[in-house]
Amino acid sequence: MGSFAGELDNLRERGLYRWMRRVRDARKTVAHIDGKDVLLLCSNNYLGLADHPLLKEAAILAINRFGVGTGASRLVSGTTDLHCQLEERIARFKGTQRALVFNSGYAANTGIIPALVGKGDIVFCDRLNHASIVDGCLLSRARLERYPHNDMSVLRRRLEEEGGRGRSLIVSDGVFSMDGDLAPLRELVALKREFGAMLMIDDAHGAGVLGRTGRGTAEHFDVQADIDIHMGTLGKAFGSFGAYAAASEEIIDYLVNRARSFIFSTSLPPSQMAASLAALDIIESAEGEELRHRLASHWEFFRDGLRAAGFDTLKSETQIVPVVTGDPEKTMRFSAELFEAGVYVQGIRPPTVPTGGSRLRCALMACHESKDLQKVLELMENTGKRLGII
Ligand SMILES: *Cc1c(COP(=O)(O)O)cnc(C)c1O
Repeated sequence: MGSFAGELDNLRERGLYRWMRRVRDARKTVAHIDGKDVLLLCSNNYLGLADHPLLKEAAILAINRFGVGTGASRLVSGTTDLHCQLEERIARFKGTQRALVFNSGYAANTGIIPALVGKGDIVFCDRLNHASIVDGCLLSRARLERYPHNDMSVLRRRLEEEGGRGRSLIVSDGVFSMDGDLAPLRELVALKREFGAMLMIDDAHGAGVLGRTGRGTAEHFDVQADIDIHMGTLGKAFGSFGAYAAASEEIIDYLVNRARSFIFSTSLPPSQMAASLAALDIIESAEGEELRHRLASHWEFFRDGLRAAGFDTLKSETQIVPVVTGDPEKTMRFSAELFEAGVYVQGIRPPTVPTGGSRLRCALMACHESKDLQKVLELMENTGKRLGII
């Protein structure tokens, strides 16, 4: 009994204790939390679509037509017309034969990976891949080879050593969720071809944001047709909720029959499907293009400002801009002081990032205002100096 309390004390002592802040009200980039309005720099609602009038209207219409819940899993009576429409649209968006909606990104990764590989197979996983990918790999019981972040020469060596026995799957984030850098997709495609492996890309942070038409990291590198399994989420840039796999007819058909998180779970509500369809309409429109340009100019301005002030922002080249402090307690102090001053930036500590990699994770949104970002830069520079971070 006492051991949990002891563990919690231990987390507190090491500056690793986690808790939740209660959001009372949220309007685009401003949220009312702990009695005050704060500017959000920690939302993955990158394009600001979560409260877009078209998404809200689509969701309400769907509720009126189908109700708030489906009452069954997809293979029973939980597949509505809207689920099918969304899957057809996602397949077209990603340029694949078919797509399949999952209940969340976490459910997608823990469903897809164990369906594709199992005992006797091998999965090659970047060290900085998202926790849900790691959990999917562990659940699969395939041999797990974690290669150093984006290190293609180590990956090649492991493929040479391990190839030939069973199936091989290479899995990587497209945009790394805590560093904001990109996976070298061209090199990954070349390796998967050479060694006859499957390649799966989790584009939770790239879909809707990267590429000329918002199709994601694979479009950015012009390798859309070379990825075997595109995984993406609908709860970030899409402003909705859920996730998807886009792949060949054969792979999707197999997932329908084998992905346990797909089979054994009540399907997402129709309102969410309708909101995701509306999000795709916007992402594929001129408005979407304008939002992506605005977001890109924000992240360049913000990242360059932080670098000029002397902060370590790693190799970020997206809307995710890390500010490394290296120390969990310093990170949480930095975050707390910014919060006091009206800016909410989440501190990220181990085990989410490696030991020594504690950081603030700044996330930009298209609906931020340049003048607000300028103020945040000044505030971060002053606070960073005071805390001895720069
Ligand atoms: C957020 C995220 C997920 C999980 O998606 P949810 O829909 O939030 O469960 C998976 N992979 C990556 C890289 C993510 O950033």
